[in-house]
Order: sequence, then structure tokens, then C-alpha cells
Amino acid sequence: MSGGHATIDLVGNSAGALRDSQLQGALGRLSALRQLRAAAVAEVPEWETLRVAAAAAKDHALTHLDTHLVQLEARITALGGMVHWAADGEAARRIITGLARDRGVRSVVKSKSMVTEEIHLNAAFEAAGIKVVETDLGEYVCQLADEPPSHLIAPIIHKSVESVSELFTEKLGAPRTDVPEQLNRVARTALRAEFLAADMGISGVNFAIAETGTVVVVENEGNARLCTTRPRVHVALMGIEKVLPRLADLGVLLRLLARSATGQRASVYVSLITGPRRSGETDGPEEFHLVILDNGRTRLLADPQLRESLRCIRCGACLNVCPVYERVGGHAYEAVYSGPIGAVITPSLEGLDRAGELPFASSLCGACAEVCPVKIDIPRMLIEQRHRAVRGGFAGRLDRLFARGWTFVMSSPARLGFFGGVGRLFQRVLVRRGRIDRLPYPFAGWTAHRTAPPLAATPFRAWWKTGRRTARP
Ligand code: SF4
Repeated sequence: MSGGHATIDLVGNSAGALRDSQLQGALGRLSALRQLRAAAVAEVPEWETLRVAAAAAKDHALTHLDTHLVQLEARITALGGMVHWAADGEAARRIITGLARDRGVRSVVKSKSMVTEEIHLNAAFEAAGIKVVETDLGEYVCQLADEPPSHLIAPIIHKSVESVSELFTEKLGAPRTDVPEQLNRVARTALRAEFLAADMGISGVNFAIAETGTVVVVENEGNARLCTTRPRVHVALMGIEKVLPRLADLGVLLRLLARSATGQRASVYVSLITGPRRSGETDGPEEFHLVILDNGRTRLLADPQLRESLRCIRCGACLNVCPVYERVGGHAYEAVYSGPIGAVITPSLEGLDRAGELPFASSLCGACAEVCPVKIDIPRMLIEQRHRAVRGGFAGRLDRLFARGWTFVMSSPARLGFFGGVGRLFQRVLVRRGRIDRLPYPFAGWTAHRTAPPLAATPFRAWWKTGRRTARP
């Protein structure tokens, strides 16, 4: 247990997800996202150069984070905005609900933001008696269904059109339809009234530019633009890692983000917000507040093995290619950040005692690192987190037992030779037509849906000693 949170039961959740035929059908849509990304990337011959430049820009920003954050604060303050520092989620919730209470805010509209999910901001508003409405279509559906999002950029990838229609009928009294455009219209009509009534708009931040004091919000629906301009107060919440030193860095990252996330050449709306409304301007909020959140990020920053994870621009591409995520979906991870990058950062943000199983939810195939636009070496960090989980005693019992046995066998050539011989002897009863199609417990899961190759008749080392004159049997 950690902070009162139960340990994540990834294995149990996965078993349930695999049995859920509606979920399995919905997750099939991930292949469309993969194809869109691949086509969009193929159009850019300098893609690799962009990735290298983006990784370097993020690394540079992280190395000088202290300077850039202070510069960002100074610029925003000079523009008439206010900057607040939050060490953890509780502090951020207190600051934001305090701002709302002090200003007599009764209703809040929110655009899509994973960091607000991370700090459970909606629950804090509700506890304070303030109405809060999600305005991104997917997030709105999640709020009506009382479910967390299951993907970084596609919050309801786990839901079918039919289930959304059912929900709109139940919660909004809308007629049943399986036409997505009609469902969009229902949500748009309901949300328009909320935008007009809201006193405060909340957004996340995709990037913040230190030299200009600008926060950048990227979206496709236009709801974030309404949240950040229509209400009289705009509060933006960002993790410390979002800051970039110069506006010049932004172009590279925006190109990578849109193509990696949704396969678009550019996102539909990119809002650059530089302070509150100035005199003579016709729109924009009267007040602009930026809340800068740590919540475990400085721990990652100080960790040479995991620091690279702070480069993440939350594009979701690593989720879309992950064979584990594709089978079990985001809710199985029981964490705000799911998929490969979630399996790296959640154990650091929430503790290995709670999330020690997550780094094991990977085949280490490397697909995530291949698509990551900022070249994060996710498999290396998953292995590092596995080491830490095993050393700390937080890995699953079976994983620990297996790791110990593997270390025992592999750390001595004599033991490897002996157990290899034993394996070759026992597999005689298991091999059928050159393959092993049924392993006994606890390895039965490996052969439940596929066959395994048998151990070679001649061990590799014995063959090597022959001078490799013969083909290996
Ligand atoms: S780790 Fe890379 S691929 Fe995954 S969400 Fe972050 S930036 Fe995208």
C-alpha cells in the first residue's frame, strides 16, 4: 500500500480485459491510429533529424529547468498574470479551488488535460461545491460515465459508439443513434450552455515558452480555446517539465506531436496564450493564472536512469504500438498514465509499492522506443524499474521467483549446461512435430495461444567449440 492506495492488480485487471469482448473490439481501432501515424511520418524525409533535434531541445530545457521556470514566472508576472508553485497534487488542488472560492466561482469548464487527472482536480471542485464540466468530447463522455480516460489522447478508445449513445440517452435524454455526428451534436448543444455560464476555465499546458511567457495549448475540437478565452478567469496547470527556453523550439515539437498523436500534419487549434486580456483586446480572460506542479517530477529529474522520461510530450504513440496495451487497454494499468510510458513513470510518481507490477507489463519488443518522437529509450527504463521492483521486493511473487531462478542458472556455465541437459531430456515428452505446444504450469500461459521452439539438440557453446564447421542441428 502507498498513501492509502491499493497495489495495482495488473494481472487480474488484464484477465478481465481479455474477457471483455466489447473492449477487445474497441481496442482494434488502435490500428487506425498506427496507420495514420505511419503515413504522416512517411511524408517527412527529415523525421529522424526532427526527433534528434526535439530530444536535444527537451534535454537542454531539463538541464536548465531552474533558470527557465524562473524566467517564465518573471515574464508572466510582467504581463499581468500570476504564477503559483505546487509541490504536490494536494497543494495544486488547494491553490486552484482557493482561486475559485475567492472569486465566487460557481461553475468551471475544463479542457482535456492529463495533469488535472493526475491531481484529481474534478473531485476537489466537487468537494468544494463547485460545478465542473469536461468539454473535450471524450473527456465529457468519461465524466458522464464516471470513468477515468483510458488513453493519453483518445480518452474513450475503450468505448463503442453504441455505448456512448446509451449513455447520452440515460444522462442527457438524447434519442438513441449510432451516427457519431449526431452524438457530437448532442454534446455540443449541452456544452455550449456550460461555456456561457462558466466563471472559470481550466486547461493543461502542452508547452510553455520561458522567453515570452507563453503557454501553448494544442487541441482539435476548439473547446480548449473556449475554456481559455470565454470565462473571466483562466487557470492553466502544467508539470515543471513542459517549459522550453525559446519560441524557436516550438515548431519542431509541434510537427512531431501532431503526426505522432493522430497522424495529422498539424493540430486543428494551437493556442499561444501570453498573459490575460490587455486593454483594447476584445477577448481573453480578465485573469490568467499558471500553476506549476512538481508532484514527484524533481525526483525523476534527479534520477540519472529515469530522467529521460521527462522529455515525454504525451503524444500516445507508444500506447498505440504496444502489444500489451492493445490487448488490455488503459484501465488495466489503474493509473493516469498507462501504456509503456506510464509503466515507467507511474512507479516513480506513485511508488513501487503500489505500481511495482507495471514495468513487467511489456514484451520489451522496442516498438515504443521506435515511434517515440522525442527518442525516449522506454525499454531500457522498464528494465531499470524491474530491477528496482525486484530489489525492493515489490515485483509479483512469481516474477521474483523466476528472476532468482534465472540468475542462479545463468550465472554459472556449469549450471547452465546442467539445466540445459535436464531441459532437453524432459522436453522429449513435450515436442510434437518439432514444436512444443503445451507447457506445464506455471508456463502453461506461454503455449495457450502459440507453440514454442524446443531447445536445440546441440547446445550453442558445444557447437561453437567445433569451430562452427557444421550447420547447427
Ligand atoms: S513516451 Fe514518447 S511516444 Fe510515449 S507518449 Fe511520451 S512522447 Fe509519446
